[in-house]
This record gives sequence, C-alpha cells and structure tokens, in this order.
Amino acid sequence: MSLIVQKFGGSSVANAERVFNVARIITEKYAEGNDVVVVVSAQGDTTDDLIEKANEINPDHSKREMDVLLSAGEQISISLLAMAIEKLGFPVVSLLGWQAGFRTGSAYGNARIKRVIPDRIRKELDKRNIVVVAGFQGINRYDDVTTLGRGGSDTSAVAIASVMHADLCQIYTDVEGVYTADPRKVPNAKKLEEISYDEMLELATLGAQVLNNRSVEMAKKYNIELEVLSSMTKKPGTIVKEAVKMEKMLISGVAKDNDVARISIIGVPDRPGLAFKVFSKLAAKDINVDIILQSIGRKDTKDISFTVTKGKLKDALSVLNDYCKILNAANIVYDENVAKVSIVGAGMESHAGIAAEMFEALYEAQINIQMIATSEIKISVLIDAGDADKAVTAIHNKFFPVDQ
Ligand code: ADP
Ligand code: ASP
Ligand code: MG
Repeated sequence: MSLIVQKFGGSSVANAERVFNVARIITEKYAEGNDVVVVVSAQGDTTDDLIEKANEINPDHSKREMDVLLSAGEQISISLLAMAIEKLGFPVVSLLGWQAGFRTGSAYGNARIKRVIPDRIRKELDKRNIVVVAGFQGINRYDDVTTLGRGGSDTSAVAIASVMHADLCQIYTDVEGVYTADPRKVPNAKKLEEISYDEMLELATLGAQVLNNRSVEMAKKYNIELEVLSSMTKKPGTIVKEAVKMEKMLISGVAKDNDVARISIIGVPDRPGLAFKVFSKLAAKDINVDIILQSIGRKDTKDISFTVTKGKLKDALSVLNDYCKILNAANIVYDENVAKVSIVGAGMESHAGIAAEMFEALYEAQINIQMIATSEIKISVLIDAGDADKAVTAIHNKFFPVDQ
C-alpha cells in the first residue's frame, strides 16, 4: 500500500462534470488499496472573482479580511469534491487548511508554510477515509486564516507529500505536463518527459505558471518527485526530479513574465556607493529588484535601470522620488509596458553561443532588447510587452525548429 498525494487545480474542478471526473481519478487509486490525500484549488476563476468582489466593496481592504474571503474558494471545492466522492460510494472527509495542520507565517496574502502537523490527516487515513484538503491556506500564530500567494495549492500538496513521506505526488492540471513553452501560446511546444528541479524552478520563477515556484523549491529541498499531468487525458505527464537523463536539448524551455515594470534613475553622479544607497532603500521597503543595468558613466553621471514587479512599482517610485534630491538624480522614469522573456537550460553551462542564438531570433523578429540578465542556466531579456508573444514564438522556433 502506498501513500499518494494528488493535487487538482482550479480548471480540473471547474464544474460538476469535472468534479466527478476528478472524483473518479481519486477513487480509482483508493480502490487499488492506496491511502489518498487530495489537495484542491478553488473552482475555475473563483479566486479572481473573489478579488474583484473585494475591490468592489473596498479597494483598501485589509489583507487579513482578504484572506478570509479568498480561503472560501477552496472551502467550496473541497466540500463539493467530497460530496462527489460520497456519491461514488467511497468514504471521504474534507479538511480546511487549519484542520489539516497547516501552520504558516503571518504575512497575509503571501504566507509561508512553517510546519504541517498531519495528525488529523493520519487519523482519517487510518479510518480508511480519502482525505480532501483545501490548498492555498493555513493559519498563523494569531489563529487567523492565511493564504499562500497565487498558485499556492501546488505548495500545499508538496508540503503534505514531504511531511508524510508520500510515495507519489501528482499535480493534475489542464495541460499534459511541462512543455518547452506555454502550449496554449506556442502550439508546437513539446512535452518534456523529465525536467530537473533547478530548471523547473527557474521556469516557474520566470513565468511558467504550470507549477508554483515555491512548490518546486520545497520539492527539491525534500527530494519529492513530482508528476505533472492532465486530469482530462490519461497520458503520462512530466516528472520533476533531481537528476534527469541528458537529452540532446540545450534548453528546456522558454518562459514569459508580464508582471514586470522598469524604472530608470537618470543622471546620477558617477561616484561609489550610489547603487548601494538606492538598493538598500528599496530593500528596506521590502521591494525586490530583478534585472539591473547600469550605464557606463559619461560626463560624471550615469543611469541605473532595474525592474520590479508591477505591484511594487508605486512603492518603488515613492521611495525613489523622496530620495531623488539626495541622490542628485536628474530624473526618474518608468515603463510598465514591458515583459521579460527567458530561456532556461542546464545545457547552457557547457555550450557557447546560446545567448547569440536567442538574440539572433529576436533580431530576425525585429524585436528590440532593453535589458539582459544571465545566470548559469538562464538568459532573460526585457522587451516591449507588445512583442512578448512574438518573441516567445521566435525564440522557441530557433531552439525547437517546427519541422523537427
Ligand atoms: P492549475 O489551475 O491546474 O494550477 P495553472 O493555470 O496554474 O493550472 O497552470 C497551468 C497552465 O500553465 C497551463 O494551462 C498553461 O497555459 C500554463 N503554462 C505556462 N507555461 C507552461 C509550460 N512551460 N508548460 C505547461 N504549461 C504552461
Ligand atoms: N486558488 C488559488 C489561486 O487561484 C490557489 C491555486 O490555484 O493554487 O491562486
Ligand atoms: Mg496553478
């Protein structure tokens, strides 16, 4: 007998028919004699709809109340799924995050899981119940409900799999696995048989939303193999694990992130300490910066450009505007109409010329690069948001020619 953790995303439980489809997948595994713990997300667009509702009532709502609201989405889906499983004649119990033992930090809306105490889950499994757990939620030390950030149900599933030493952790979604690009945007994207934690972590962080990046981080830390697969077809998915077979592929995927804004501080004095001052001010306000570009000084001044997420733009500008005079900067400009397109691949480390190929693809598509950032296994470019989809396709076609 094995312990299996299965996670179903919002689209997999979007309506009654799909809820029953999922109930059948679960009960099939249970009927084989396995213990099954299921993690579910809110149905379809429920979370987006709840956010809209909150903004209708009070756009300045507190984060605490927002978490009370958002956690309701998962409460609906666990109960409905449990009812479907009951209808199929199997024993089942649904549990909210706190009942399942999810203890989190206090950052409402983006809480981190501190511990999972799976006593109740174990008790229910001992009674041979199928356990359906609400993803994306827990409680903090004030006994308040918290949520884990968008896409957080993936992390809930991996957390249960790691504390309970599950034999299998399956992430069911609406595509058949992890692809070389978003298969909804790039129809000739290829499904990967396997991908390493490190590459998956980069892809997820750089915009491939098929897995939440924290879930991959946790899977790597506790060495939990993940299988990403579709709830709609019975095909094998993609395995995410430590060491993967070396395929001929130099890169494993192309990702796009629209949640970026670029800020440039123009004409700051070309003296030591400036970057330090700017970025420590931003860090003090909890503003993460991503790609950073500093121009070579000219006439004793230089420009510093960097990117932040769109949600942090206002905060970043207010920090910088307050600081502009002290900095002696001529001007601060920003652009929200940008996107980051990246390629990820462990093969990059040992192959020269990958960056050149990527830039060639962009040149051929007549797309201008604003900023570039690289690491051992990724290259990112910042471009005009309007060019992003075209860029993904052009780069993908360069590395994965259509006729292959
Ligand atoms: P779920 O609701 O199951 O959590 P998500 O919408 O969060 O599903 O993630 C699945 C989506 O991720 C797919 O529908 C697909 O459009 C998108 N996606 C982006 N990049 C990739 C990729 N490289 N491989 C597979 N899917 C991707
Ligand atoms: N329902 C949450 C969201 O939409 C969590 C998740 O789907 O993983 O972000
Ligand atoms: Mg998701």
